[in-house]
Amino acid sequence: MSNTTQKDWTADSLAEAATTLAGTDGAQIVAWSLERFGPRTALACSFSLEDVALVHLASQSGLPFRVIALDTGRLHEETLQVAQRLQERYAITVEWYVPQQDELEALVREAGPFSFRSSLEARKQCCEVRKIRPLRRALAETPAWLTGLRRDQGQTRTKLPIIQRDESFGGIVKLNPLADWTDEHLAAFAEEHKLPRNSLYEDGFTSIGCAPCTRPTRPGEHPRAGRWWWEDPSHSECGLHQGRHHR
Ligand code: SF4
Repeated sequence: MSNTTQKDWTADSLAEAATTLAGTDGAQIVAWSLERFGPRTALACSFSLEDVALVHLASQSGLPFRVIALDTGRLHEETLQVAQRLQERYAITVEWYVPQQDELEALVREAGPFSFRSSLEARKQCCEVRKIRPLRRALAETPAWLTGLRRDQGQTRTKLPIIQRDESFGGIVKLNPLADWTDEHLAAFAEEHKLPRNSLYEDGFTSIGCAPCTRPTRPGEHPRAGRWWWEDPSHSECGLHQGRHHR
């Protein structure tokens, strides 16, 4: 099977791929993606359990892949420890991307280190500088990226497709191999393969993000209720995942 670029992907070919992938499991979707899009294919890793599962599946495929990660400057120590363990276990090099120095300096000088608490606009500006622009650089020259998003992670993700064009990042293909995984499926997979697990989960966190913007959730709360908890839940995305399914 030859590698393809995003230019080859029309609405029809996407629909055909979606039909091919329907009913296949996460491992098959990851392997199909790496075969189809080649070694520049990027796995976006925030070091959540989902993303660790994705790295495990890619590693099991035996095919080359990239792991990209965003060091926002505000990550928990525990998250960085998972990154280290992942590198050692799978013998991978995590491609870290950091904010542009001049943009970050301007942000914190003008708006302060907690600008994101003042308004939705300010929060989006922080995510733009610390996450979105670095991700844009990470995805340059990338035909496709894979995420660990799941449909049951929040009201913004209920219609998440397995494959889509990502217009936010130049129309490249985005795949969500774990889209239909449930909490139980993920937990069983992690247990079976003894996946490195972020210790924040033991502290009540149910989503992994920047330290000042993520809190543990209480029993009965939605898993993503701890992200930007001071905002309306319909805004609970940072801009990395703003495809059509979110509208
Ligand atoms: S999650 Fe919070 S700290 Fe991290 S980039 Fe977004 S606003 Fe900034």
